[in-house]
Amino acid sequence: MSPGAASAESLLAFWAEGGVDAMLLDEPVDRIAAGRIAPPQPPARKPAVAAAPSPARASGPDVSGAVAQARELAAQADSLEALAAAIAGFDGCPLKFEGAASRAVVWRGDPAAPLMVIGEGPGADEDRQGQPFVGRAGQLLDKMLAAAGLADRVLITNTVFWRPPGNRTPTPAEQAVCAPFLERAIALVKPRMLLLVGGASAKSILQKDEGILSMRGRWHEWRSADGALELPALPTLHPAFLLRQPAAKKRAWADLLTLAERLDRPERPA
Ligand code: URA
Repeated sequence: MSPGAASAESLLAFWAEGGVDAMLLDEPVDRIAAGRIAPPQPPARKPAVAAAPSPARASGPDVSGAVAQARELAAQADSLEALAAAIAGFDGCPLKFEGAASRAVVWRGDPAAPLMVIGEGPGADEDRQGQPFVGRAGQLLDKMLAAAGLADRVLITNTVFWRPPGNRTPTPAEQAVCAPFLERAIALVKPRMLLLVGGASAKSILQKDEGILSMRGRWHEWRSADGALELPALPTLHPAFLLRQPAAKKRAWADLLTLAERLDRPERPA
């Protein structure tokens, strides 16, 4: 193999490791119809007074209608099975129509687990098998959970339920649309704590604009949108990152031990 071909192959292997397994989708995507790009508008006249941005529009497309619909559907689900069916039938998340997702991927594990693990979003293996964290990163996560004695004590899910194209990071708008379903899952499972896997998960769940390297290993407080639920949440490094940076494994391992210790600590009587 020529040096040029060898370096192209190693670059492709690098991208594949990071989850980028396609440059183009099989079918063209009409992003205007999918609502991800605003159709061309005639030049707007400047308003006399600038309107304050509404929170739903502050970063990206206005998804407030889809969020409201997700909240209503989620509230009606009185079991994890009903919630999974509601998610599968929901058309409000743009990821469903971006061409990379063949189905909704919800959760796996113990429906009454004391610990919920929340990753970023499903990848190619997860989409194929219909379960979160089943690819190489998931296998590493499982090994680490087992080594920390947590294997049978978790429910594993993600911030979004459809595979983003090219395994890109889900956008805050996509995460916002899925959040009511995730919150309902937390309310139904009633875990004692959350493990937030990766920066995109930690930022979205905790609504913080901090890097994962500074958030990880410290306890944060998660609060549901209506303020009714509160849980301790520990951010940690994503196993896909650990596959690329094995030297960082010791930090993730320290995080898991911190979590296991708190999980096994007897709860104080109320
Ligand atoms: N990465 C994630 O964040 N979630 C998965 O389910 C798989 C890989």
